[in-house]
Amino acid sequence: MNLREKENQFLLHTYKRLPIEVDHADGVYVYGKDGKKYLDFFGGIAVNALGYNNSRVKAAIVNQANRYLHMSNTFYMDVQIELAETLCKLSGYPKMFLTNSGTEAVEAAIKISRKWGKKHGKANLFALTNSFHGRTMGSLSLTDREKYRQDFDPFLPSVDHIAFNNLNDLKTKVDAATAAVFIEFIQGEGGINVVSSEFIEELYNLKKKYNFLVVADEIQSGIYRTGKLFAFEHFGVRPDIVTVAKPIGGGLPLGGILVDSSAEDVLGYGTHGTTFGGNPLSCAAGLATLAELTEKKFDEHVTKIGGYLKRNLIEFKESHPDFVAEVRGIGLMLGVECRKECGETVSALLTNGVIANCTSGNVIRLLPPLVVEKEHVDIFMSRLSETVSEATKISVK
Ligand SMILES: *Cc1c(COP(=O)(O)O)cnc(C)c1O
Repeated sequence: MNLREKENQFLLHTYKRLPIEVDHADGVYVYGKDGKKYLDFFGGIAVNALGYNNSRVKAAIVNQANRYLHMSNTFYMDVQIELAETLCKLSGYPKMFLTNSGTEAVEAAIKISRKWGKKHGKANLFALTNSFHGRTMGSLSLTDREKYRQDFDPFLPSVDHIAFNNLNDLKTKVDAATAAVFIEFIQGEGGINVVSSEFIEELYNLKKKYNFLVVADEIQSGIYRTGKLFAFEHFGVRPDIVTVAKPIGGGLPLGGILVDSSAEDVLGYGTHGTTFGGNPLSCAAGLATLAELTEKKFDEHVTKIGGYLKRNLIEFKESHPDFVAEVRGIGLMLGVECRKECGETVSALLTNGVIANCTSGNVIRLLPPLVVEKEHVDIFMSRLSETVSEATKISVK
C-alpha cells in the first residue's frame, strides 16, 4: 500500500488532504517526496509564523528535551512560567492559563465567563454569525459555521449568535443577562471578515451599560499576524479575555488565555486544569518564537510586507474585475473574495507550486509565514496571475 491508501485505510476520513506527500520543509517552502517545491502561503494554518526549520526554535526544543519533556502541572517549571511572563509583559495582561490547543483555550474562556456570570447573575454567551471558535462541544456551540455544526446538536444552552457587524442585532440581543461576547476581530475560517469599528464601539457602549466580558479570539489573528501583537489593538479596545494558540508554540501544540484583572480571580485552585497544557517542550519552542518575533521587530516587517501584498492584490483585483470581488484583511491575514467558488483556483495554484487555502466557498485565504519577503510576494502574484489566466483560457474554450 502506498501512503495515500494507508491514510485512507487507517485514519478516520476527517481531512481532505492536499495531494502532497511531504518530504521536508524549509523557510517558506514545502518539498514533496516527488522533488516538487511549493511556496507556502498558508503557513500550517497560521501556525508556522517563523516558517519551517527555524534553527533557534529547534535549538530550544533540543535543549529542553535534554532537561525534561513532561513533568505535570504539579511542579514549578521555569520555561512555562517564563512563557507566561513574556506574554503577560508583551500584552499588558496580568495573568494567563495555558492549554494545548485553541479549542481548549476557548473552553477555558467559556468556563470563566459562566462562573463570572454566576456571581453577577447572568449566563448568556454570544458569538458572531460566521464565526469559528473550535470544534469541542463548548467551542462548537459558539462556532457558527453550519458545515461544522450539522448533526452535532444539542449544543450548550444559553448560547446565541449576533449577526456579524449588525448593530441592531447587537443592541437587540445583548442585555443585563449577557455574561460574555466572544469575537474574532478578523474572522479567519469565516472568510477574512474584519469587524467594523462601529460594531466594536457599540459593543463597548453596551458593555459599559450592562457589564459583561468581552472575549477576543486571537487564535488565528494574534501574535503579530496583523502587524500588532493582537488584532484588537487596531480597534483601540482591551478585551477581558484573549485566547491564543496556533503560532504560540512555534509549531508544537500550545494555547492559552490572557485574563484581565476583571476576571483573573474567577478560577480558583482545582476549578480548572489540564494534564498536558503548558507542556515544557511547547513552552520552550514558544519562548524562542516570541524572542525571535520581538527581537527582529516582526510587527514592522508584517505591516510592511502585508501592505505590499495587499497593494498587489488590489491591483490584481483592478486588472481582474471579473474574477475578484473584494480584497480584505490586515497585515498577513488577507482574503481575496472571488466572484465564484475558489476550490479549483486553489488546486490549480497548487499545481503551479503555491499553497493557498479556499475558505467559506469563495475566499482565497492567505496566511503566509511572517518571514515572507518581497521576492516571495512577487512569485506568489505572478503564479496567481498565471493560474487565473490559464483558467480563463480553459473556460473560454
Ligand atoms: C483554529 C482556531 C480555533 C481552534 O483551534 P484548535 O487548535 O484547532 O483547537 C479557534 N478559534 C480560531 C479563531 C481559530 O482560527
